[in-house]
Amino acid sequence: MSDIIQLLPDHVANQIAAGEVVQRPASVVKELLENAIDAQSSYIKLIIKEAGKTLIQVIDDGVGMSVTDARLSFERHATSKIKSAEDLFHLDTKGFRGEALASIAAIAHVELKTKQEKDETGTEIKIEGSKVTSQEVCATPKGTAISVKNLFYNIPARRNFLKSNAVELRHIIDEFHRVSMAHPSIRFDMYHNGSEIFNLPISNHRQRIVNIFGGKTNEKLVPIEEETDLVTISGFVGKPEYAKRSRGEQFFFVNNRFIKSGYLNHAVNAAFEGLLKDKSNPSYFIYLEVDPMSIDINIHPTKTEIKFEDEHALYAMLRATIKHSLGQFNVAPVLDFNRDASMDTPYEFKGKEAQAPIIEVDRSFNPFTEEKVPSSSGSSSSKQYTSFKKESAGDWENLYAGLESEVSKLNTKDTEFSSIEFESAEVTGELFEDEKKDLGQQTTYQLKRKYIVTTIKSGMVVIHQHRAHQRILYEELLRNITMASAASQQLLFPLKISFSKQEVALLETVKEQLENAGFVFGDSSLGEIEINAIPSAVQEKEVAVLLEQLLSDLENEVPESGFSQTDALAKSIARSLAIRTGVELAQEQQQYMANSLFACTEPTVTPDNKPTFITLTVDEIDKKF
Ligand code: ADP
Ligand code: MG
Repeated sequence: MSDIIQLLPDHVANQIAAGEVVQRPASVVKELLENAIDAQSSYIKLIIKEAGKTLIQVIDDGVGMSVTDARLSFERHATSKIKSAEDLFHLDTKGFRGEALASIAAIAHVELKTKQEKDETGTEIKIEGSKVTSQEVCATPKGTAISVKNLFYNIPARRNFLKSNAVELRHIIDEFHRVSMAHPSIRFDMYHNGSEIFNLPISNHRQRIVNIFGGKTNEKLVPIEEETDLVTISGFVGKPEYAKRSRGEQFFFVNNRFIKSGYLNHAVNAAFEGLLKDKSNPSYFIYLEVDPMSIDINIHPTKTEIKFEDEHALYAMLRATIKHSLGQFNVAPVLDFNRDASMDTPYEFKGKEAQAPIIEVDRSFNPFTEEKVPSSSGSSSSKQYTSFKKESAGDWENLYAGLESEVSKLNTKDTEFSSIEFESAEVTGELFEDEKKDLGQQTTYQLKRKYIVTTIKSGMVVIHQHRAHQRILYEELLRNITMASAASQQLLFPLKISFSKQEVALLETVKEQLENAGFVFGDSSLGEIEINAIPSAVQEKEVAVLLEQLLSDLENEVPESGFSQTDALAKSIARSLAIRTGVELAQEQQQYMANSLFACTEPTVTPDNKPTFITLTVDEIDKKF
């Protein structure tokens, strides 16, 4: 038999290598940004169109390339960064494998323009699927500009495998964060579909973090610092009270390279032991400087995992350093004029004399008035939710009229109950009357400010008020959003809420649905969003928390398609707005709840599939006697 082994042609080898290096648009972003950093740039601009599916462009003002280098840079294993295996142990560059550009050029349309400072003219090269289609002399400023268009154009399977724009954009922003956070001495800008998402001036680490994650981040950071022979540790950890359920802001950088490390993450968590609420995760931005000789970066093609020589010592040091900083902060809070002192309570209590527990009595409670608001909202698990404590009249009216209410909200706290009733009856008159007729003599009873008990033909039903209301709101929202028919209330003064640029970008992805739900947005630049109108069922003071909750839901899972986006949005808002356990409901409210629930398409469960009510038949009751 004749020989059958042959060397793969370069373009095939490159395509195979590309599979490892380029998983998605974000991988290209990472490689191009890193090349720009290695080229000693001081200003790097990232331009993205359609989440990188049509264009990823990186423009830098670095050293540029000569004509020959420009051509060579697309060859596999072509690198200016190492010359021998020995150099692998003294790396001070991001790249060294020399395969990124070759891989990218194998699976996209690439245009490169580059010029060195000393040269008069630059070089322009166009490559498609590893083939150079043109090379020309061109006029271009010092530095390099690379455009990567139509990624995976020649591998339809990979292209089809790409996720929605929202998901791919998130991955790109994540990479952008990682790279720009490691290099605050470089200016970074990012544009998506023509609008600026980030504008990060040259700064220090703290300012860079704040510029990325928004102004409110500043007060959340506790600095950490330690210097030993083995490692220099610097950076910040988030104050324990700001720990989130999502694992959002957790960053390790080793020698200015973002890395993932479950082991070091464990060290951080160990330092926070006893300070965190169940299931919450601290945020951290930790920079480690170690001798390049003591690490091996070569173990992963995308270089996000590295091996440390003395992992155990590093673990112990990191944990001790963070513990120390948290302790110091504990006794001597850093002066920070932006700080909200009330946030420090857990620490301020330390060292103070113990106080006997106080029995809380609601002195204003009068069983003969209609309005009763419990002092805490029973089952709500997170502190945040207490701000949803329903405030009497206004909420009652909401609950009653549901989202279809055309009436603008009554925000006066002390409006008489009777006047609300009047107003509701007037506006939603028809609905109201119909229901009254249907209700007949049906009675309801509220049990423990949590359940509504009512009768049906076969026996009785016990309805979980919070869950039932979630279902009702969810279906109303879905209807409103999909039909774009929600009523909204114009705000007298536009509401301005500050968010990080990333959060703004994330909200943009569901903007259309939010608008259908009744929100009207104004300008959303400068880390702030302006809201001019809100759904009529939402109170102004609830908006910030509602959007925060929505963001955290979206962050945990960015929905793929338009439909599931709408669904996630409706779920999140319903969860935020649903009347809580612990809120006393008037007879009419109880009846409204029961009727609306059974008018739902899927009354038996919440949008998260938890039962909304149970039934107890007369037979079952008989058996008990
Ligand atoms: P690596 O970064 O591993 O060396 P790449 O394929 O990413 O491999 O790049 C190949 C070479 O092209 C680099 O070693 C560098 O010399 C050159 N190069 C790439 N991007 C730039 C840039 N933005 N500015 C200057 N030179 C660059
Ligand atoms: Mg590179």
